[in-house]
Amino acid sequence: MAEDTLRELVARDQDHECDGFGSARVCVRVVAVAELPTRFGPFKLVGFWNNRDGKEHVALVLGDVVGLEEVPVRLHSECLTGDVMGSLRCDCRDQLTGGLEAIQRLGRGVLLYLRQEGRGIGLINKIRAYALQEQGLDTVEANLALGFRDDERDYAVAAHMLHSLGLGSVKLITNNPEKMRQLTQHRVKVAGRIPHVIQPNQYNRFYLETKARRSGHFIDFSGKARLGEQSDPVRVEGMPESELEG
Ligand SMILES: [Zn+2]
Ligand SMILES: [Zn+2]
Repeated sequence: MAEDTLRELVARDQDHECDGFGSARVCVRVVAVAELPTRFGPFKLVGFWNNRDGKEHVALVLGDVVGLEEVPVRLHSECLTGDVMGSLRCDCRDQLTGGLEAIQRLGRGVLLYLRQEGRGIGLINKIRAYALQEQGLDTVEANLALGFRDDERDYAVAAHMLHSLGLGSVKLITNNPEKMRQLTQHRVKVAGRIPHVIQPNQYNRFYLETKARRSGHFIDFSGKARLGEQSDPVRVEGMPESELEG
């Protein structure tokens, strides 16, 4: 049973140590597995310890994945304001539910939920950055204020987590080919890409109505440019391919 297979990883990793991934030499261990029935299906929740950032990164797993090929995988960065509070300053909740819906539709897969609120600067600093945007910071300044994430480190953690789950190869749910390249650099076998398409709703319809999206930025209701917090251009169903850049 998949459940047992995942649980075996906890015992396997008890004394795991390796040279680590990336320049930060991050190493992770699977430390806990439990069932997590969700509105997106009967997932398992896998908890990871790591030797670097003290953050509790987790994987949501649906169906059999251990040792299998072409497992659908979505990388998601925690966003409390979007994921939980339903903020419209970003598109994170749509990206999260879109990823889980895709895995549900495909019948199996893994969503890595990476705990790096506000690109790793934390919730309070994110509120500070939002406040600066309200004072009229331009996109570049806002990027800096939001503390552009150390992508290299993120992919190292994610890559080790995928290795620890024993996936033979992955199909990345993303609109960002750079993500595939980065994971490949960390020795993850990337067998292909599944476009990350979000269902239109009353909150993301503005993506379709504004034509001003550029390199991961979009224009919000108040007409200000916002930074895409998931490093992944948004594609809402019905949006022409030509509007997807970067
Ligand atoms: Zn390791
Ligand atoms: Zn967000």
